[in-house]
Amino acid sequence: MANTLNEAWTLKRAREFYNIPVWSEGYFDVNQHGHIVAKPDESTEIDLVEVSKEIRARELSLPALIRFPQILQARVLEIDNAFIKSAKAASCSLKHIPYYPIKVNQQRTVIETILSSKVENIGLEVGSKTELLVALGLLDLKQGKLICNGYKDRAYIRIALYAQQMGVDVFLVIENLSELDIIRQESLNIEVIPKLGMRVRTCSVANGKWQNSGGLNAKFGLDARDILICLDKLIQWRYESWLHLLHFHMGSQISNLEEFKVGLSEAMRIYSALVERGFALKFIDVGGGLAVDYASKSDVSYFSRAYSIQDYANTVVNTINDFCKRKDLPIPDVVTENGRAITAHHALLITNVLEVEDHDDKHHDSETDLRDSELYELGKQLLSSIRDNQSISQHLIISFEKLVNDKFHRGEIDLQQRAIAEAILRQCDTRVKGFQTNVDKYYCNFSIFQSMPDVWGLDQIFPIAPLARLNEQPLKQTRLHDLTCDSDGQISQYAVDGELKDHLSLHKPDSKDYLLGFFLLGAYQEVLGDRHNLFGDSHALNVEQYQQQLEVTELEIGDCVNEMLNSIHIKGQQIIDRCKLRLGQMGADSAPTSGMIDEINNALFGYTYLDSIDRPTHRIKR
Ligand code: PLP
Repeated sequence: MANTLNEAWTLKRAREFYNIPVWSEGYFDVNQHGHIVAKPDESTEIDLVEVSKEIRARELSLPALIRFPQILQARVLEIDNAFIKSAKAASCSLKHIPYYPIKVNQQRTVIETILSSKVENIGLEVGSKTELLVALGLLDLKQGKLICNGYKDRAYIRIALYAQQMGVDVFLVIENLSELDIIRQESLNIEVIPKLGMRVRTCSVANGKWQNSGGLNAKFGLDARDILICLDKLIQWRYESWLHLLHFHMGSQISNLEEFKVGLSEAMRIYSALVERGFALKFIDVGGGLAVDYASKSDVSYFSRAYSIQDYANTVVNTINDFCKRKDLPIPDVVTENGRAITAHHALLITNVLEVEDHDDKHHDSETDLRDSELYELGKQLLSSIRDNQSISQHLIISFEKLVNDKFHRGEIDLQQRAIAEAILRQCDTRVKGFQTNVDKYYCNFSIFQSMPDVWGLDQIFPIAPLARLNEQPLKQTRLHDLTCDSDGQISQYAVDGELKDHLSLHKPDSKDYLLGFFLLGAYQEVLGDRHNLFGDSHALNVEQYQQQLEVTELEIGDCVNEMLNSIHIKGQQIIDRCKLRLGQMGADSAPTSGMIDEINNALFGYTYLDSIDRPTHRIKR
């Protein structure tokens, strides 16, 4: 539906326009004041404008990453409940054991919140030695559950075995053949019987951006030949009882459940082959991949999910149950390693629009201003094609552009004439590229590379909406740009009003801060974020609400400039010393005021983003 001025604008329309019912899965909505609210449970509504005031009250500037721990816990429960319901409906004894893959978001507060959810049997999945140590720092060492995936050296294997000795329930998953011999040697040395898992490669592939995790060319897992070698060794050593778990992972963000079902059926075939050979496997680990709907309910593209969580659980339970019944096999318990679906919703970035580059200012109708007669003729033709909505000849555009450049080089037109010619070229460009002609640039206080790197790396779509004024029709068509000096630092795709668009409708900012929310950033974004232009981590805080009172915990002040400098091995003190030396050389008369050293000193401990409050350089760290 087009967004026209005459259309009645209601809160219902605002929800629909910003696609809120689709991506929020009930965790976000709009209140009667036109503000976006978080709804971690049915009785709680947290007004995001109030959250931004809370940040201000702490003298902090935007951007800030807001986490809602209650949403994290609700997601863990929602997924687990779906499995309980499926198993009950299928009258099946299968149990679901979720393991949270910490690579998706390794922040301590995120892991702790997940571990303390109501799903008591939840464990952690790690993919490296460092992640293993993170798990040992946070798991219950007497009875926690742990899956060790990823390539392993001897130290990784030994630490996992010691963890098991301490009381942690550890599955060491064999990712490649060489690991098996090392595990055997180290287990004999340490005198502990390991619980092994085996990661297998399925031929079936789930299409999407992460499809390489599955299929015969997948990086991880054993193919049929390797599986047989592994089984033979275990049989030869009489260690059949060591093998407990069969694992496969078809990739993240599986949009099409049918493809997943094919992969799971293939894994069940391998399961039956193993059972027939005398391996009493107790667990099928179906990996992660439960998708998040970033954009559209019905689409099966890589940023959508055309099925519900319940459909997913039913598929897993029924495929395993039906297969085992048909083949008269014991029903294994099901392990899942879903990360994206657990974490995506719980975090959003709030930031403010710093500046607007108004398209109307740049695209005034300027043919009469072109004093040069040659340019005037060509410019007139181009402008009339644009106005009459006719196709524009590429040849004409190139000739016009060349003429402008030549004439400017020769000094035949001045800067003002060049600006007018550029305005005409810009209009041609937007028309040829199929962009909306009247798009404004909104410059926002954040870095795409740091806060939503998948936009840059994978063309990922994240939901974006203003946090206030949703009771007012947004009439400005905008494209968002970040602070980095990089042409990739803009967002060029938006899921709005049931479509993918190259612009986002927003309001014209008034005297107050115009606040934007970038949603569903809880999965992968923090971990993958980089420090382009040395913009660092933003502030991050947990927000909960009890009896209408906002409670902020786990406030992590964002990186300061000095931390960014340290990361590239430059010492702040070195900068101060050099400046002091130079000031000393200049002598008291010609040197800038002593304020300079204070300014640098404060900046070193200030935020890397722009201070949205007008004040002298503000220290966020001591
Ligand atoms: N398990 C393994 C082995 C993975 O490689 C991944 C990530 O791709 C996951 C689980 C988590 O996947 P997702 O976040 O899509 O649930």
